[in-house]
Amino acid sequence: NTFAEIDLGDALNENIRRCKYVKPTPVQRHAIPISLGGRDLMACAQTGSGKTAAFCFPIISGIMRGPPGPRQRGSRTVYPLALILSPTRELSCQIHEEARKFAYQTGVRVVVAYGGAPINQQLRDLERGVEILVATPGRLVDLLERARVSLQHIRYLALDEADRMLDMGFEPQIRRIVEQMDMPPRGQRQTMLFSATFPKEIQRLASDFLNNYIFLAV
Ligand code: AMP
Repeated sequence: NTFAEIDLGDALNENIRRCKYVKPTPVQRHAIPISLGGRDLMACAQTGSGKTAAFCFPIISGIMRGPPGPRQRGSRTVYPLALILSPTRELSCQIHEEARKFAYQTGVRVVVAYGGAPINQQLRDLERGVEILVATPGRLVDLLERARVSLQHIRYLALDEADRMLDMGFEPQIRRIVEQMDMPPRGQRQTMLFSATFPKEIQRLASDFLNNYIFLAV
């Protein structure tokens, strides 16, 4: 019951030690091996359960082990390999901060984009290249319309606090975003859906976005 027993790779394990995480939380203990094994996941997890690491660790580990993405430095359009969608600026910034610590010295670049703030700095951050994009749905749709982000190379999609995103009316934006990932040519996308509650609407999202998924309630 330690992170060292989970096969995340040396660089990530070193960063986990730096964060002083010793023992995986229950959601991490179950979700990380499922995701490392390549399965889609729908997880019932509350704030404070350690869900951020539960979806960040497999994403970072998978990107480090996978083939490099397309060259994107200096291009107007960038091609993230992973997308983490979250409902609010605050949560996106929190995820971004944590993900950057986990990805320290791994070569995996994390960029955040959220609404209610000027877009220019976010565009400059994106231009330097991005493997993991953390975004709120509205701002991401804006970036897609401006052709500053392409989702054609997404390998990992994580939806955090999916019930809150639906409560805030983001379902049309989320569906538009996921449609772009499903446009050819596309490889295999792995999807993780995290939600505190599981009403009908979330179950419908799960059956629309996930393939042969494992349901986890901790
Ligand atoms: P989250 O539910 O992802 O917002 O995480 C809640 C808090 O728990 C954050 O401050 C994390 O840094 C911390 N945390 C997450 N996983 C662990 C762990 N395995 N050991 C200790 N702290 C953790």
